[in-house]
Amino acid sequence: MSGKLRLTVLGSTGSIGTSTLDVAARHPDRIEVRALSAHSRVDELVAQCLQWHPRHAVVTDAAKAADVARRLKDAGCRTEVLAGPEALCEVAADAEVDAVMAAVVGAAGLPSCLAAARAGKRLLLANKEALVVGGAVFMRAVKDGGATLIPIDSEHSAIFQCLPEDRRTWAQRVDHIILTASGGPFRQRDPDSLEAVTPDEACAHPTWVMGRKISVDSATMMNKALEVIEARWLFDLEPSRIRAVIHPQSIVHSMVVCRDQSVLAQLGTPDMRVPIAYGLAWPERIESGAQGLNWTALKALTFEEADERRFPGLFLSWHALQGPLGSTAVLNAANEVAVERFLAGRIGFMDIYRLNARALSEIDPRLGPQAGVDDLIDLDQRVRVQVGQWSDATGR
Ligand code: NAD
Ligand code: MG
Repeated sequence: MSGKLRLTVLGSTGSIGTSTLDVAARHPDRIEVRALSAHSRVDELVAQCLQWHPRHAVVTDAAKAADVARRLKDAGCRTEVLAGPEALCEVAADAEVDAVMAAVVGAAGLPSCLAAARAGKRLLLANKEALVVGGAVFMRAVKDGGATLIPIDSEHSAIFQCLPEDRRTWAQRVDHIILTASGGPFRQRDPDSLEAVTPDEACAHPTWVMGRKISVDSATMMNKALEVIEARWLFDLEPSRIRAVIHPQSIVHSMVVCRDQSVLAQLGTPDMRVPIAYGLAWPERIESGAQGLNWTALKALTFEEADERRFPGLFLSWHALQGPLGSTAVLNAANEVAVERFLAGRIGFMDIYRLNARALSEIDPRLGPQAGVDDLIDLDQRVRVQVGQWSDATGR
């Protein structure tokens, strides 16, 4: 590598964002942080700016930007503070940036991911919702912009690590891929008792420490549903060639089954710094800070089928992928609204599935084959309004 990697971290105050900075801090000789961003956790953002002195800090909640700018100025920090969601696109496309870590949560990350793709960046994609909403439109932007798309989601990083560098050989080599899932906190819970689950119970993940939205998605297995859709686009695979299996230990991060039935897997401790370090250094390898696996302490690596009664949401992904363009955006928007309302205590845990399934069956995506990102964002907004109304009618 020539010179330092100039990095922008979008969503730097979140779980992936802070893990990214943890890895970056181990490699001051090769990584330079140019921009950071936060939505509402401005205290954390101020602390990060004082540590990293990036050129830019974006506060998407514009009302809080002036406060951040004042605090940084008072502390003698010369970081320029930019306000509002459009500023995320600006820093993502900055000509003086090489790589963008896309770690905003939800479809809110789509415009900045697209900006980075169009500007030909090394795009480290944690923000799976952007790809689930953007689908083919997103992948076209990556191709046209000459961007290098590197998955950060642990399962997709695992698949990516198992595949050869030359993408053109993937289709002929792969028979199918198997995404592993921990099964979350309710893997063994009586399905009839799931109606009563509380937000704190849903966020208590057994193997991974994550933001609250993705923690709820793991509990419903909607996270795996979104990941099936993500894999469809990242690896250009038909949905029938993507499978999911529960693996409670979260040691095997995913597998590629080759044409000859040889199986390649990537293993490691469940620590997001591993795929993050891989994305930052690719095609090289650098220290991530993760603990090594203690092989002799591993009792077993087990695999089981996901029970449809307990995890009905998982199966919505294949259904959405069979629908017209826009169906996966409908599923994602419905899920974001439902999870937000569940976390706010306004609907029950199983209502998340009901709202998602209803959105898929009742909302017509109505997008033509020429649809662009604006059409997808309009659709996303339309679904949010509709699902909000349904939720108001059924909520408690
Ligand atoms: P998080 O909730 O911990 O952090 C989200 C970040 O996004 C924060 O920095 C927040 O300020 C920012 N943000 C929130 N709403 C925003 C908005 N409307 N506009 C701009 N910025 C906004 O989430 P996380 O767990 O770090 O997850 C981030 C993304 O990475 C998600 O898409 C998630 O699915 C994906 N991911 C996370 C993990 C994990 O282990 N946490 C693993 C795989 C993939
Ligand atoms: Mg994952």
